[in-house]
Amino acid sequence: MSVKSCYIHIPFCNKICSYCDFAKVNYNKLYIDAYLDSLSHEIDLYYKSEILDTLYIGGGTPSGLEIDELNKLFKILKTIKLNKTYEFTFECNIESLTEEKLKLLYNNGVNRLSIGIQTLNLKFLKFLNRNHNKESVLNIINLANTIGFNNINVDLIYAIPGETISDLEEDLKFLTSLPITHISTYSLMIEPHTKLYIDNIKNIDQDLDYKMYKFICNYLKNKGFNHYEISNFSKKHNSKHNLTYWNNEFYYGFGLSSSGFINNRYTNTFNLNKYLEKKYDRKIEEIDIKTNMENEMILGLRKIEGVDKSKFKLKYGKEISEVFNIKKLIEEKKLIEENDFIKINPKYIYLSNQILCEFLL
Ligand code: SF4
Repeated sequence: MSVKSCYIHIPFCNKICSYCDFAKVNYNKLYIDAYLDSLSHEIDLYYKSEILDTLYIGGGTPSGLEIDELNKLFKILKTIKLNKTYEFTFECNIESLTEEKLKLLYNNGVNRLSIGIQTLNLKFLKFLNRNHNKESVLNIINLANTIGFNNINVDLIYAIPGETISDLEEDLKFLTSLPITHISTYSLMIEPHTKLYIDNIKNIDQDLDYKMYKFICNYLKNKGFNHYEISNFSKKHNSKHNLTYWNNEFYYGFGLSSSGFINNRYTNTFNLNKYLEKKYDRKIEEIDIKTNMENEMILGLRKIEGVDKSKFKLKYGKEISEVFNIKKLIEEKKLIEENDFIKINPKYIYLSNQILCEFLL
């Protein structure tokens, strides 16, 4: 199987969000040059010059880099070869985007923006420690669209303590009025080591969480968005990069804390000092056939269309039903067999995590 994609992590953020448990550090100009030098070294060391379908620059806040730093990053990225129909995504936040940066991204081949909006409600933005507002969101997204970006994702967070369905509706109404093509949704989870956790904030009630999820699915469907993965909705363009993950295909991961999957899974060091010294300390997790088949199902069933039975047979030489006890799940109507696919019954999508656990051998 060939390598399809590459993820690159830029861990610097200008401001730390109260819910964040990603690998990130406060932006400090002193680190950036050394970080980019190490990234360049890592790519030279491991990248085997394959022509890839997708490149994804995530973080952290990659758009928080200054112009000279972005120029240096793009110079490094020239090494990575992309095919003619490539998807090149750059993660951004509203506060750090300017016209000059947007043009720089566009002129360097970025053709998809993923913008962390989370919410437009000023009270909840403060709670999440985010600093934009409706006007700045509107201005930046319209500007990006005018510059030529016609594939824009926004991230939406819901289930914020105190949020009502009508607050959520306000956010959805505003987001769907923008020239965007994709929405990724996240139910707010209070994770250990975050400010919210330290402040003893609790997750919202499960019933309300479920109602909000259903509300989002219906609202976005009515607005012409295709629900193609548990938490993802698109108009025209599904995320090719994330489909690499959900299809259990090979990808590189470069940068602090990044993971890749090429025969086995590897994860880089989480220690910034080590990374700056070009010590990647890759931890390797061996993926045997059993684990690979589990992953194929657990990741693949996140897609609304499900897992292609013929492709599974071709890849592993066995039918899905020979490996997993899907008969029981089909009888319970949790799974549906349709055409050549096995998928989760849309009625049970919200409970998908419980169903996916059944695929651990
Ligand atoms: S911008 Fe993203 S990575 Fe940075 S603190 Fe906020 S959630 Fe975390």
